[in-house]
Amino acid sequence: MKKEKSQQLYADALHYFPGGVNSPVRAFRAVGGTPIFAARGKGSRLFDADGNEFIDFCCSWGPLILGHNAAPIREAIIEAVQLGTSFGMPTEAENHLAQFILSRHSYLEKIRFVSSGTEAVMSALRLARGATGKSKILKFDGCYHGHVDSLLVNAGSGFVTFGVSSSAGIPPEFAAATLVAPLDNLEAVETALSQHPDIAAVIIEPIPANNGLLLQSPDFLRGLRELCTRYGALLIFDEVISGFRVGFEGAAGHYGIQPDLLTFGKIIGGGMPVGAYGGSHTLMAHIAPEGAVYQAGTLSGNPVAMAAGWAALQQCAQPLFYEQLARNTTNFCGMINRHVQRKEYPVQVFHIGSIFWLAFSSRNRISAAADIDPQSMRYFKQLHAFLLDHGIYFGPSGYEVGFVSAAHTTADLALSAALICAGLDEMEDLY
Ligand SMILES: *Cc1c(COP(=O)(O)O)cnc(C)c1O
Repeated sequence: MKKEKSQQLYADALHYFPGGVNSPVRAFRAVGGTPIFAARGKGSRLFDADGNEFIDFCCSWGPLILGHNAAPIREAIIEAVQLGTSFGMPTEAENHLAQFILSRHSYLEKIRFVSSGTEAVMSALRLARGATGKSKILKFDGCYHGHVDSLLVNAGSGFVTFGVSSSAGIPPEFAAATLVAPLDNLEAVETALSQHPDIAAVIIEPIPANNGLLLQSPDFLRGLRELCTRYGALLIFDEVISGFRVGFEGAAGHYGIQPDLLTFGKIIGGGMPVGAYGGSHTLMAHIAPEGAVYQAGTLSGNPVAMAAGWAALQQCAQPLFYEQLARNTTNFCGMINRHVQRKEYPVQVFHIGSIFWLAFSSRNRISAAADIDPQSMRYFKQLHAFLLDHGIYFGPSGYEVGFVSAAHTTADLALSAALICAGLDEMEDLY
């Protein structure tokens, strides 16, 4: 694989950006080597600055559910851009996207568009605090919610702990307003809620997909709903990844659970910067200018981004779109799982909808952050390098999930599965 051009661009970028990147995981620190620089994408394929071609399973970390450069999105963007790129006034495009979503998503009554997933989560937390008059937030170890100050916290050692900030620059008071509980443990949640009556909200990725894929049992999620109702805390589903991914109604629809607030990002913008949060009419009435919770954005509801989101979601809403994607993903993961079982490798691919995660572990269930052995990441590092050399691109960290898009053909998936199996076979110490 040629790397000269990417290496040169990275060397230049180191002069411009901290670590040479505008978002840390892109720097390839977890897998070693230097990042590849993307030049263009088409369907399931990504082409880098050196002209190498990859079947892409990162898909821009989730937004590209239709694959790269999907024609309907590209055309919608071009049409919108010809009318102007930003007005700072309401546009019909916002109504159009909101109407499309709200008429098809039975867990949402009202929505507010923002520009990123982080902004959506930050705003939803403020709303939860404003609406309940309470201040603390309960989050789960192993869930990521963007770089919101009070959520960049790790669990301390113990059952339910006050957060310990995982980034410099976060005042201890912010971290202390966040409690952290283990996933898949209702007793921990109940302990926290009963000991801290000032918890405004419990926030969870209902399909935790930022620290491996930590699938939760429906009973745990239903239990959370009951506990939140009983203790007067709002339940926030952070659906920035799962929204419009595991079905049009995301995880709420998949599990049939009504959260109080939902947050979105990634797919909702069709590859443009869009985030959103929403909930009932009553809760959303707390947002300015209707209510007292302030939240605003110069580029919120940007017409070009709205057009891209609408074009993407229109494809997602086609009959059998999600069924087909899930079937392809199941077949793809099945090919790998059958191989590793035959070879008795301590490896398993977990999946839901079109999200998958390759775990170097022999556990048949991984449902909490503590179930992942950090030592196992060295295997991912080897596999990542092998796959790059063979034209397959995975996000550069073993904690990241992969995504199958509608552009991945049966042939793409069969070839990729075969290469992944070959990569595993090459590992000398994988027994
Ligand atoms: C990606 C992500 C975010 C942050 O979204 P950005 O657009 O990167 O700010 C928040 N929550 C979850 C669950 C995510 O996957």
